Amino acid sequence: MGDTPVRVKFWGVRGSTPTPQVENLGYGGNTSCVEIGTPAGETLIFDAGSGIRNLGNEMMRRAAGAPQDVSLFLTHYHWDHIQGLPFFVPLFGAKNRVSFYTGLDSRPVRDVLEGQMSKPYFPIGLDQVAAQREFEVIPEGESKSVAGCTVIPFPMNHPQGAAGYRIEVGRSVIVYATDYEHGNAKLDSILLDHARDADILICDAQYTPAEYETHRGWGHSTWVNAAHVGREANAKRVVLFHHDPLHDDAFMDAMVAEARTAFDGPASDSIVAAREGLQIVL
Ligand SMILES: [Zn+2]
Ligand SMILES: [Zn+2]
Repeated sequence: MGDTPVRVKFWGVRGSTPTPQVENLGYGGNTSCVEIGTPAGETLIFDAGSGIRNLGNEMMRRAAGAPQDVSLFLTHYHWDHIQGLPFFVPLFGAKNRVSFYTGLDSRPVRDVLEGQMSKPYFPIGLDQVAAQREFEVIPEGESKSVAGCTVIPFPMNHPQGAAGYRIEVGRSVIVYATDYEHGNAKLDSILLDHARDADILICDAQYTPAEYETHRGWGHSTWVNAAHVGREANAKRVVLFHHDPLHDDAFMDAMVAEARTAFDGPASDSIVAAREGLQIVL
């Protein structure tokens, strides 16, 4: 690719529910939303948790009135991955187009998202917003080429299902694997295949190993498993993601220190925890 790098920016990193409480704000209280900025200056968005509100405002500033073509990929439809959508300002611009994609084929994506904004939940329906909308399920085994990126969905072990994504931009590879529980041999091996040689593996790490023992079947993983997958897949960097609402900043600092010490040594930054505003440039 050209000289302009690929950017990965975290707008929401919290799992389950927003936590706007002061002791959590170092890592952030908004729910899942990750932006990938391409070398051509285009934006891909992964998940529409409450973090997408700030991203939408930033996109409006950047566009300065120019039409926007937004590509939004959803992992699944649990609240913490869609709840920011009604407040995503580009939806309300008549010159804009928003394309919704998912690798999850359990329900029609359009019905689910329109349902979220239907009466009596929200005053404006998704079918009434000004932006042009498109909805597309990417069939299993297929990929989507958009904005110079190849986006490859894959199924993950999660209650009601979730799609992970491998995103290839030039020579850079980013893997987004949140809302995933380890322990299903077939799906673990699918994740490993898709995470192969990633520059960045963003991985569900909601629990400590001790917490996991009382949360089996809840659909989330641990920092130990995230680090193992990263190592097995030869990923350059693992980003711990989907932080538990109960994990305040001090807890998160300790978790990252423990993960680094266990895997690559305390001085290494090959394991980081996602925090709101963190930007990684490839
Ligand atoms: Zn979630
Ligand atoms: Zn979920």
